[in-house]
Amino acid sequence: MDEIRIYPDPVLRKKAFPVKNIDGRVKEIADRMAEAMYSNKGIGLAAPQIGILSQIVVVDLGEGLKTLINPEMIEGEGESTLEEGCLSLPDIEVLVKRKNKVFIQAWDVKGKELRLELSDFPARVYQHEIDHLRGILIIHHISQLKRELLVKKMLKKLKGS
Ligand SMILES: [Zn+2]
Repeated sequence: MDEIRIYPDPVLRKKAFPVKNIDGRVKEIADRMAEAMYSNKGIGLAAPQIGILSQIVVVDLGEGLKTLINPEMIEGEGESTLEEGCLSLPDIEVLVKRKNKVFIQAWDVKGKELRLELSDFPARVYQHEIDHLRGILIIHHISQLKRELLVKKMLKKLKGS
């Protein structure tokens, strides 16, 4: 099974490429992502988190698995701030300001166009995953000083375990 890449793995800071053809290979990547997400008890995962620089995200908020290919946030409104965690940053939680309501366009694994209108927590989860496709993690929403402190603490803990 694929291991979740942990910060500061450089792949997490790279931009993922758009998927050109939604074929069996894409489905296979999505399956691997879902497996990694579920076995780590996550609610969302982006392809770079298993080391693949393709614009694919998987999300399951308790209503079944959703796979989004080439997701794009078309519109966003309102703002809210909440603590978030990330599978690539074990034991770190930071306050992240995000749009409260978003409109996202994407494709599913069958190549069908998806249009999602989301608000509150689901909107936040999808924004978090789309951030990953641009190489942005939750720690990049806070100051550099705070980020360095948190990462130092995390790495110390990881080494100790
Ligand atoms: Zn994450």
